[in-house]
Amino acid sequence: MASVAGAVGTNVSLPVLGQTAQPDTKWVKSVCRFCGTGCGVLLGVRDGRLVALRGDPKHPSTRGLVCAKALFLPKIVQAEDRLRRPMIRKNGRLEPAPWDEAMELIASKFADAIRRHGADSVAYYGSGQAMTEESYLANRLFKGGIGTNNVEGNPRLCMASAVGGYVTTFGKDEPMGSYDDIDHARVFFLIGSNTAECHPVIFDRILASRAERRDVRVIVCDPRKNPVVSMADVHLDPIPGYDLPVFHAMAHVIVRENKVDREFVERNVQFKAVKDGEPVKVGFDDYVKFLDQYSPQRAEIISGVPAHLIEEAARLFSFGPTMSLWTMGLNQRITGVWANNLIHNLHLLTGNIGKPGATPFSLTGQPNACGGVRDTGSLCHILPYGRSVKKPAHRAEMEKLWGARKGTIRPKPGLNTVEMFKALGRDEIKAMLVLTTNPGHSMPNATPHRDAMGKSRDGKPFVCVIDAYPTRTTELADVVLPAAMWAEKTGVFGMSERRYQLHPQIIDAPGEARSDFDILLDFAGRLEKKGVVPRGYIAGKFRTTDDVWEELREAGKGTAYDFHGITRERLRRERGIRWPAPTTDHPGTSRRFVKGEDPLRDNGPYADHELAPGETKFYAAPDHRAIVWLRPHKPPAEPVDEQYPYVLSTGRVLEHWHTGTMTMKADELKRAYPECFVEIHPEDARKLGIRNRSKVRITSRRGEAVIRARVVNIPRPGMVFVPMHWDDDPSLINRVTIDAYDPGSKQPEFKVCAVRLAKA
Ligand code: SF4
Repeated sequence: MASVAGAVGTNVSLPVLGQTAQPDTKWVKSVCRFCGTGCGVLLGVRDGRLVALRGDPKHPSTRGLVCAKALFLPKIVQAEDRLRRPMIRKNGRLEPAPWDEAMELIASKFADAIRRHGADSVAYYGSGQAMTEESYLANRLFKGGIGTNNVEGNPRLCMASAVGGYVTTFGKDEPMGSYDDIDHARVFFLIGSNTAECHPVIFDRILASRAERRDVRVIVCDPRKNPVVSMADVHLDPIPGYDLPVFHAMAHVIVRENKVDREFVERNVQFKAVKDGEPVKVGFDDYVKFLDQYSPQRAEIISGVPAHLIEEAARLFSFGPTMSLWTMGLNQRITGVWANNLIHNLHLLTGNIGKPGATPFSLTGQPNACGGVRDTGSLCHILPYGRSVKKPAHRAEMEKLWGARKGTIRPKPGLNTVEMFKALGRDEIKAMLVLTTNPGHSMPNATPHRDAMGKSRDGKPFVCVIDAYPTRTTELADVVLPAAMWAEKTGVFGMSERRYQLHPQIIDAPGEARSDFDILLDFAGRLEKKGVVPRGYIAGKFRTTDDVWEELREAGKGTAYDFHGITRERLRRERGIRWPAPTTDHPGTSRRFVKGEDPLRDNGPYADHELAPGETKFYAAPDHRAIVWLRPHKPPAEPVDEQYPYVLSTGRVLEHWHTGTMTMKADELKRAYPECFVEIHPEDARKLGIRNRSKVRITSRRGEAVIRARVVNIPRPGMVFVPMHWDDDPSLINRVTIDAYDPGSKQPEFKVCAVRLAKA
């Protein structure tokens, strides 16, 4: 049955292409291909075809639920426009070509750039949708083989600020809690997260928890009255980009009303501010003084949120146990890391952490951003499992494990995503490999970045795109390689609650499509032959993704991510395992940092034998104490002004996912929203003479879009909201968004830019 959350139960599956799940359908356990919730699914296979998908009732976290878009995955996999053959641009047109010709062209272009312009003239732009083994292999090739840190991926656009928040507060990334906490929390704080539409299965679990326990309360902080608000006891609706004072004001109330858990704070917390660009330790009293400037009344003036609601939210929060969940509303900002820090501050002050139901918990947009990109260190500044390119010991460890020449891994971080595409535009990057992602649509301020990739520029660099479908990025490429979809290859996804899950290959890829893993192996072998990567560095080392997994287990061993006990054999047998799991008999960890629950707390380098069971100690933080940060309010990169008086925020709808390259293949999903829309508050629509369904021109300093109006009392006045899924040119909203980014996380500010509106 469909729930209000948009999740559906275990008995639901859809017939695909007229093939219902017959008695001879074989059901194979796998994991959903879409968001970071990581729902366990059963895939129905008959006659070598994927005919149906349903929730896996035996899955311990998602318990048989899936959301509507997942049900259409079998149809999406069989879409008619799947890419089936490699294509090379000849005389301005993409034309089919043999694999060997395409691969040789790519390898030659890369080898030529490396020889003539150095290793930093090439770049890799990957994806939170690739398998863990694929992201790791690309990272290994570029950093340890070619010798460039120009390795990035779309998780930079999605969860980099959450990582930055965890690392700066707790010393290590990834949530310490898990979905188990949903069953124990009495207060949910949902911030900048349309959980009902973007993570419906999690929202359904929150609803179920609330239905079972009548004392559960919900605080929502979001400038839109999205569907989550319907269950809120308190709704805080700050002006987009002005919520930091709200979080400080909540802390102000917590301190003023003596709701601080002093024992927890004295044992586990330190306070820090930044002075002259350097972090300095300060005391609790300094923090209290700092909070003086953020009384609820002052926060109301800055944010527009009534002071009495801030007070009510603070009282509820401290009541606890409290679970905070957030996503892009907090992350996609130039103050994304700071906003994350301030949520952690509230948990630390009230001791709402490390106990059942008490945890900060960031949600993830992609199925494998956590396990595949974050954990494997496949971004420009990091190395696998919490290592940094800046640390000589970390570089040496990875060079040894990879068998790379000493000194190959560069100590300087490579270019972050926005800077990488800017460098492409300046011809400083000569060759780029884009894998399983669609930057031609998803990059903020898309026009110059599209031009950088695109065919319209003279003397443009070489761009190869690997994808399963034609996209707004493949149309710009010099070479397009057809990729296998998730059910057509084997690999591991790591989802939001640290659970690693295996998805097996159950059907063959169409036409000549190959897995990204195969393509990367082929590419590496050719680079070795051309002498720009040492012979035998990758070629001959890995036959299957199982081989890569063995090396990954070694790379994680002894680190704060230790999953050495998660063998391939276990992954095939079990329905995912949450790390840390250092030994093969360890069942996985629900709550990190907690004595008696986190195996790294009990044994090994992080063990602390003085702690009592159930006590928390942040073993990865300096002095084992998490940090409450004094982060001042900072306005968005582009505040509104007379010329551009409205705030534009982008987001998603239930039926579609990211750039729509998959969900737009299902007519049933398309029909829910046949075209893009812009939500405008009725007050603003009246002022501008805009009627419901009339076309609106949305113009920023960077570009414009023309989109049909939905005049609704959902966004706060002064704000407009556009979903980012549509790729047709009048509605490609990323031509309007801004590519200013957080100085710490380098995540762009998709959620806030200034626009003007006019009837089109
Ligand atoms: S909630 Fe996410 S992972 Fe779960 S079925 Fe929906 S899209 Fe897939």
